[in-house]
Order: sequence, then structure tokens, then C-alpha cells
Amino acid sequence: MIDNKIVRTRIAPSPTGELHIGTLRTLLYDYALAKKYNGQFIFRLEDTDQKRYIQGSEIRLLETIKDYGLSWDEGPDIGGPYGPYVQTERLEIYNKYIKELLDKGFAYYCFCTQERLDNLRATQKSQKLLPRYDQHCLNLSKKDIQKNLDNKIPYTIRLVVPKNETIVFEDLIRGKIKFNTNEIDDQVLIKSNGIPTYHFAAVIDDHLMKITHVFRGEEWLTSTPKHLLLYRYFGWETPQFAHLTVLLNPDGKGKMSKRSGSTHARTFLEEGYLPEAMLNFLMLLGWNPGNNQEFFTLDEFIKAFSLEHLHKKAPTFDRKKLDYFNGYYLRQKSDQELSVLFKKFLPQASDDQIKILIPILKERITKLSDLQTQTKFLFEDVDYQKDLLLKKGTDPKLAIEMLQKSKELIKKYFSNLSENLLNLIKENNWNTGEFFMVFRVAICGSEFTPPVVDCLPALGQEKTLRKIDIAIAKIN
Ligand code: GLU
Repeated sequence: MIDNKIVRTRIAPSPTGELHIGTLRTLLYDYALAKKYNGQFIFRLEDTDQKRYIQGSEIRLLETIKDYGLSWDEGPDIGGPYGPYVQTERLEIYNKYIKELLDKGFAYYCFCTQERLDNLRATQKSQKLLPRYDQHCLNLSKKDIQKNLDNKIPYTIRLVVPKNETIVFEDLIRGKIKFNTNEIDDQVLIKSNGIPTYHFAAVIDDHLMKITHVFRGEEWLTSTPKHLLLYRYFGWETPQFAHLTVLLNPDGKGKMSKRSGSTHARTFLEEGYLPEAMLNFLMLLGWNPGNNQEFFTLDEFIKAFSLEHLHKKAPTFDRKKLDYFNGYYLRQKSDQELSVLFKKFLPQASDDQIKILIPILKERITKLSDLQTQTKFLFEDVDYQKDLLLKKGTDPKLAIEMLQKSKELIKKYFSNLSENLLNLIKENNWNTGEFFMVFRVAICGSEFTPPVVDCLPALGQEKTLRKIDIAIAKIN
């Protein structure tokens, strides 16, 4: 409880695509606050914008959150005492409340055509004025309204915004924020298709669902005064608001965008970032523990989380830091756990190959999808230029000799390869670095590879010999 109230938070995404990584961060803070105070965390689907709806995305949203190991106490799939948790299933509720506002004179019918609104906007734009509704329908008589309704003229319902007032609220992150009502548009609350806008539906739902704390992105900050007017008109207590900073691109320039990789929470899992590493990284993108602890399990985060340590300054989405966290969490895994993960990201590898690869690769990858690039040579003949074999300035004849002799050795013995190859180098007085460049490129088709000799058992004798033959043929 906070202030004698059971803490209730919510995440309210729209089914318009994949879960954004910024939404996952918001969700994490929602979740932590609710759990810390033994409250509830709610999932609500805000699907009132039918034009932007993407089929099936609601299921993907829920699944992505689950894949990150998080869950909700109330939501569309499990219900709860304040359901339904899908806005288009709550239309009757919104109807009831819009009637109340109309009756009290806090909302009004607007019969303006789209054409009129477009013209108005164009004129305002040409005069360099802020685009906003000119309250043309604000003072229609009851009689005119009824006549229009009887004639089935399409309408929207708008919010009455008082003039010359200052609306003040205390944001949990940004402190006191003031808005002049002259800058606020008479927001459409109910669209011409009878469906509420986000603004109206979200306020009704947050109230009825007893939400105590609203975390959301700072892009919603300018909407908050409209929401506060609604709370005032209904005589409802407002929840506390925390408008979180945007996430910036890794170069610190601009809001995080696809320019620097995907912004979808799901893509990170597909790239082989571990959920716990992602969450740990996100915890610190907008919050700090007040000391220098860096690694947090979810439970530790819940305990440490506090509203006082949320940041005002937008963080950069530093992928190097993320890789660092992922590397750390990967190395915490037992070989048994890694084996499951390796199998998922290297489905073409056999169990025996995976067993061989785990100790070789676990220290060398930052994310699990690196496994594919690191082990490509095990599953195909990687194409490369002959010159790469001779990268260290090796004489072609010498390179062939090195390859021939290694081939003979490997044909005879396919064990103790490290030792045997080192003896071969010594016997022939070759330069070790030079030999391994030729040999590495012959086997892997690349100069940057995991320890090549250690990988040979995973490649198998036959394939090893074949790759050497291909290299010899290239030089000849
Ligand atoms: N439906 C809004 C979104 O998609 C939620 C905003 C809020 O949390 O109030 O981001």
C-alpha cells in the first residue's frame, strides 16, 4: 500500500504492432511498483484505434511479455474483478460516462464535417497558428442538437476546455508541471463511429480499474491536462503520473529508432539476448539504485525499486552495455542450461556437437545468435579467396606443404590434435602463427574464428580432410 491505497499499475498497449522496447521498460517499472507494495499489475488492451489495428498483434503482445518472464494479475486472458480488459468490449461503459458529461455540460456534440475541419486546419496552418478546433459547435442550442441527431447527421463528442486557466500537476519524475488551458484543444472524446478516443477510454478505465500510478512515455505528457480535466469533471481522484523519458539512439542523437537496430522487444529475444539480461539492462535505463550495484534479478529489482530514483534525463540505448549484461548472464548459466539454448539457436547441430561447442563458445559469444556466425564452417563450406590462405605472406608452396602434412597427420590420428599439430610445426620448423593462419582459413574460411583445433572434433575427421583438400585445390 502507498497512502493507504492498494497499489495498482497497468500497461495499456494498443494492438498496432509488436511490443516496443520502451513499452517493456515502462511495464517493468509498473510491475516492480505493484509487486513491491503487494499490489496488482494489470494488462489492458487499448484497441480503440481500429484503423491502426494489426490482426493478431494482441496475442503477440501478451506472448512477448510472457517470454520475458513477466505476468499480470488481471488481463484479457485471465479476467479479473474490473474487466473486461479490452476497450472495445467496454463501449457500454463509455456510453454511460459520456452521457454524464454531456448532461453536465462538460462535453458537447460537434457536427462539423471533415471538410470543414480540414479547411480550418489549412487556414490555421497558413496563419502559422496551432491547429485546433474553433468551438464552432460549442454553443449549439438544444433544439439544433436534437434536430441534427434526428436527421442522423454524423457527430463527434468533444471535451469542454475552460479558458484562461492553469492546470497544475505533480509528475513523479518531473515535479510540478503547468499547462495553460488556452493551449489545449477541445479533444474529441467519442469519434463519429461511436468509439471513444484513447483519452476518454483511458481515463474511464484507469478510474474504474482503480489504477493508482500511471507510468507512461513522455509523449503523453501534453495529453495529461486533458485527462486531468476529465477527472475533475467526474469528481474523481487522479492517479499519480510518472512520464518516463524517451530512449535515445546509441549515438545519443534522437529518439531510439530502427536506424540502430530493431525497437521491438521480441526481436531482442530472437537475436539471442536473454530475458534476464534485457530486463536488467532496462531496469537501469531510467532508474538507478542509488549505489553502484549493477546486476539485479527481478526480485532484487522489485525490492530496490523506488520512485525517487527515476531519471529525468533521457538515457541512450547503449548496445555495448546490453552485450555486456548478456555476456554476464550467459556465463552464469550451467552447461545444461546452455545446451538447451544452444540447441535452439543452432538447430542444425547434433547433441554431440553441442557438447563440444559449449566450453569453446560460451566465453566467446555476446548473444546466442552469434553461434550461427561462429560455427558456420561446421555446416557448410564457407567460400573464401585463395589470398586469405596466404594472408601472412606465406609462399604458396609452403602453404600446400603445411596442408598436405596436416592432412596426413589427421588421416592417421584424429585425437590429441593440438599436441600433434604443434609437434608437426616443430618438426618442420614452421612459424606457428603462419601455420595457423593457413590452417584456420582452410578449415573455417575466415581469419576470425573460435579456436580452430578445439572445433575439429565437432567438424569430424572426414569433413576436416575435405576442407583441407578444397584449400589445396584453391592454391594449385
Ligand atoms: N495505449 C497507449 C499506448 O499505446 C497507452 C498510453 C498510456 O499508458 O496511457 O501507448
